[in-house]
Amino acid sequence: MDVKQKTIKLAVNAGIGFGAKLTASQLITLANYIKEDSEIELTTFQQLYIEVLESQIDCVKEEFKKVGLMTYPVGAYVKSLRTCGFCKGAEEEGMPVAIELNKRIAGKEVPWPLRPAYTGCQNACGEPLINDIGVIKVKDNYDVYIGGKAMGENARTATKFRENLSPEELFETVDRLLDVYKAHGKRREAFWKFINRFGFENLQKEIIA
Ligand code: SF4
Repeated sequence: MDVKQKTIKLAVNAGIGFGAKLTASQLITLANYIKEDSEIELTTFQQLYIEVLESQIDCVKEEFKKVGLMTYPVGAYVKSLRTCGFCKGAEEEGMPVAIELNKRIAGKEVPWPLRPAYTGCQNACGEPLINDIGVIKVKDNYDVYIGGKAMGENARTATKFRENLSPEELFETVDRLLDVYKAHGKRREAFWKFINRFGFENLQKEIIA
């Protein structure tokens, strides 16, 4: 009897680097773990969605890691950090800070999928102002914007929440934002809706206190 095996959807990308790129060996590894007739979805958030057998999940993650592929859960979680291409250089544009931020937040459970974006200078190529949480590096420090929304007739740009933060202050601010959203957000409430209901100023008081 042909028993259909359960599959799990995974989000995959090559982590944070100079642009959203994949190498040939990463593509070959990907192809080894998906069925010939299955589809790969390319999202607007620099991730690929693939379906893998539940029984192979640990092995898949391990093999992907060996070739530099990162895996994230799909659903009501913080997505991996969308970034710009760091065209002016990794150090100048804060790539290590972006990598650390991604490590801290990507995959955290939240009431509704949350899209964070990072950009290495004020040209803002990583589109931080149309995402839920946007970070812009300005000289040696970081500004944080919240509440951007790219889709729908009520699309809007994010509002500056805090500015001139050190890397540690940035990490703490984003961690706290996610904690408050998780604690007070209603199930399936998008982050921009949560900000409207909770109040931008109340959120500032809660985070900065
Ligand atoms: S935001 Fe700045 S550093 Fe990043 S790709 Fe654009 S111009 Fe380059």
